[in-house]
Amino acid sequence: MFEHRCLNCGAKVNFGEFICDNCSMFIYEPSHTKSIYDIYHMGYYKDSLAILIKEFKYNKNLKIGKYLTDILCEYFRSIDIENHDYYVSYVPSNYFSIYNKGFIPAKIIADRFAKNFGLKVINLFKSKSYKRQASLSLNERHKNIQKKIKITTSIPKYLIIVDDVYTTGASMFECMNIIKKNVDFCLGLTLAKAHYGGDSFEEQV
Ligand SMILES: [Zn+2]
Repeated sequence: MFEHRCLNCGAKVNFGEFICDNCSMFIYEPSHTKSIYDIYHMGYYKDSLAILIKEFKYNKNLKIGKYLTDILCEYFRSIDIENHDYYVSYVPSNYFSIYNKGFIPAKIIADRFAKNFGLKVINLFKSKSYKRQASLSLNERHKNIQKKIKITTSIPKYLIIVDDVYTTGASMFECMNIIKKNVDFCLGLTLAKAHYGGDSFEEQV
């Protein structure tokens, strides 16, 4: 019979599990970034969480996407935030990224997150960028993203913006920046924060 192994350390795991109990303890490591609005991160983009996110994003493993989103939901329940009828949206992927992956990981997270809380998903942002953010340096990322995200529909009063990995914060910042005059309250929520070399964008604002 096919043996299931932990994606991080190779230990045997039960059927349907991706990661052993020991490695799963390191997924949850919450942190918080101050940007235009508060952004909450479930863990750091390293070790088992990085391996699971890569498996979700690049091998389209939707079960792992659901598994991680359910942990994100548990984290969200623990955050003390204002109680509103939030809409849930996501940081958009650009054309090439969608073309290469065939799906939008952040939308998968937004859909499951909203379903778990009985909230509505809104496809609010669209990327006009034709360069892949991942291939660019910090300065290039900010230039690439500025004015490259547009609004596609009317902006709700209360909004949660989700993303998979928070790296420089450039895309999340731009999303928050274009809606700030119209929303009453907004917050960001990501699976992981990457340790990015160089100053974070938030610190420069
Ligand atoms: Zn393990």
